[in-house]
Amino acid sequence: MKNKFLLAVILFASSNIFAQFSQKPLPYAYNALEPHIDAQTMEIHYSKHHAAYVKNLNDALKGKGAENEKIETLLSNISKYDAAVRNNAGGHYNHELFWSILSPKKTTPSAELTQAINASFKSIEGLKTKLNDAGAKRFGSGWAWLSVDESGKLVVSSTANQDNPLMDIASKKGTPILGIDVWEHAYYLKYQNKRADYLTTIWNVINWDEVSRRFAAAKADK
Ligand code: MN
Repeated sequence: MKNKFLLAVILFASSNIFAQFSQKPLPYAYNALEPHIDAQTMEIHYSKHHAAYVKNLNDALKGKGAENEKIETLLSNISKYDAAVRNNAGGHYNHELFWSILSPKKTTPSAELTQAINASFKSIEGLKTKLNDAGAKRFGSGWAWLSVDESGKLVVSSTANQDNPLMDIASKKGTPILGIDVWEHAYYLKYQNKRADYLTTIWNVINWDEVSRRFAAAKADK
């Protein structure tokens, strides 16, 4: 009995090791973002929704000759792939980014990022208004993004479903440094139909250290 159990554990572990993509551990507890984002939403979102995107991405890529591709490379060539790859590659990348830009710790944007925010949106409040507006107006499921565009400028956009600004099919392209999930699964248990309330409260748990780090990396890349 014990051996069977061990065998099952080894098989499970190896199936994950050999999968092309896997989830990073969540960098905080499921309840760490309460009261702004509740523990049950976080647990289902991470362990069910995101996990499914990863599994479905690995399945969808089988036999496509993309075994060594990085996720960013897949996304920048996404028009060459089918809908299963597009939806699940986006789903995986977007959620990895989303977990990383949230934090229970109080943080503030770097001086460089503050300057860029002021240049594009007049103030941090101006950015919040513009991003929340993009998220609120997204019909159905999707994301609101803050990205660094080709010229190094900050831009706000929104995409449907699991698309994102790295995709070659995106109408506003750039390197996303902050993304807000506006799928109902991201807020419905606590906020029901009140997406605007979720969008207002999420600014309490933004990890500005990580957004600033992503901003500096994107700028260095231009
Ligand atoms: Mn989601």
